[in-house]
Amino acid sequence: MVEEADATEVKMEERKYVRLPTFLERGFLDLRNAVIAQRICCFCGTCAAFCYKIDILEGEGGKIEPRFIEEYDTVCGQCYAYCPRTFLPQSEIERRIFGEEGKGAERDILGVYRSFYAVRSKKEDILKRAQDGGAVTSLLAYARDEGLIDCAVITTVDNQWKPVTKVARSYEELKEGAGTKYTLYPGVIGVRDAIKGGCEAIGFVGLPCQIQGLRKVQTAEQPYDVGITKVKLLIGLFCMENFTEALLDFVVKQCAGGSLEGVSKFEIRGKELLIYEKEKRRIPLEEIKSYVGAGCSVCMDYTSELADISVGSVGAEQGWSTVFARTEIGEQVVQGAVENGYIEVMNIEKIELESIRRLAGRKKKSGMQRST
Ligand SMILES: Cc1cc2nc3c(=O)[nH]c(=O)nc-3n(C[C@H](O)[C@H](O)[C@H](O)COP(=O)(O)OP(=O)(O)OC[C@H]3O[C@@H](n4cnc5c(N)ncnc54)[C@H](O)[C@@H]3O)c2cc1C
Ligand code: SF4
Ligand code: SF4
Ligand code: SF4
Repeated sequence: MVEEADATEVKMEERKYVRLPTFLERGFLDLRNAVIAQRICCFCGTCAAFCYKIDILEGEGGKIEPRFIEEYDTVCGQCYAYCPRTFLPQSEIERRIFGEEGKGAERDILGVYRSFYAVRSKKEDILKRAQDGGAVTSLLAYARDEGLIDCAVITTVDNQWKPVTKVARSYEELKEGAGTKYTLYPGVIGVRDAIKGGCEAIGFVGLPCQIQGLRKVQTAEQPYDVGITKVKLLIGLFCMENFTEALLDFVVKQCAGGSLEGVSKFEIRGKELLIYEKEKRRIPLEEIKSYVGAGCSVCMDYTSELADISVGSVGAEQGWSTVFARTEIGEQVVQGAVENGYIEVMNIEKIELESIRRLAGRKKKSGMQRST
């Protein structure tokens, strides 16, 4: 006879067991067929971050994509379940991350948010290197100094502007991430490095698709411990589109000495890509449209709707960042950074919010059209 306590355990086991098959039945081949072969992979890196059998490598024909690098696939289902492009249960994820607090928050085409601001760093050294108002680097610096995170996964570059993930632990290291890199890169892999490196409270900065991947891992009902509870803060960037590394080969031909070493900044403004060398160069976006990542075509998230804090340039005046605080921790970080002199804020007028809404709507519409 089964004792009452044992019976409860059996029931819990059954519940766990019942959940497993939905998670287990897919392997890398399913991911390949559903996403990579369909050319909707956004190169976020989530699949490779949580499975050592996957790497993001250059294969035949020079194409870089997630590849299976072992002999035998245990078909555990994680890569399929975590990938933001297999399925994205947006409202279920929102329910889990915003929970009750989401009820009191605003909800529109920009997602759920508690508050929004124009933000500028009060740290001169950050502002000098930053893309816009230096909000991202300053918020990370505050979160680190306050002990809310002990490291942050950021994206730096080598001397030819190729992205490199870094697990930054100090203020000086955080500053290395400042500035936008318009190159697709599987930055979520940095979370694996942070976990391996012993970080216990990880901050992550990334694009909307990368935030989606990490939120899927966080909210998955899974039987595996992949260390995701160590990820404490997600800062998402706005993103209309991103480019393959081939863009850098195209740009380098137009730069002094055939090198990107002298470039201090790239920026998309209006309909142009601006390259800041000794002189400012301008390339019409129309001329580089063939370098836009194939996976970006079905993307519908402009403002990193699932992040704790979202940051972009649209909506704020030049030299400032637009910031949405979406969750309780997000708001705590923004408020704390203001009170402790890391950033200054001003409220954005409604009309500027409208311009962000217009762009978000445009992206949703084109992503939807292309995904059907
Ligand atoms: C590909 C891309 C497209 C973007 N498109 C838009 C847009 O359409 N509209 C808009 O308003 N804003 C867009 N942004 C955001 C904008 O360029 C700034 O990143 C944002 O305003 C933050 O500026 P900041 O001064 O606060 O950040 P900073 O303090 O300069 O910090 C920048 C942070 O961004 C991270 N980062 C830089 N490049 C990448 C990358 N490729 N992948 C992951 N993380 C990265 C770094 O790790 C760093 O932590 C885009 C950003 C990227 C990377
Ligand atoms: S072992 Fe699991 S996560 Fe890794 S490739 Fe196979 S199914 Fe995907
Ligand atoms: S979208 Fe991300 S998780 Fe999905 S296959 Fe591509 S890199 Fe992997
Ligand atoms: S457009 Fe979407 S898929 Fe492409 S990099 Fe930006 S967030 Fe990722």
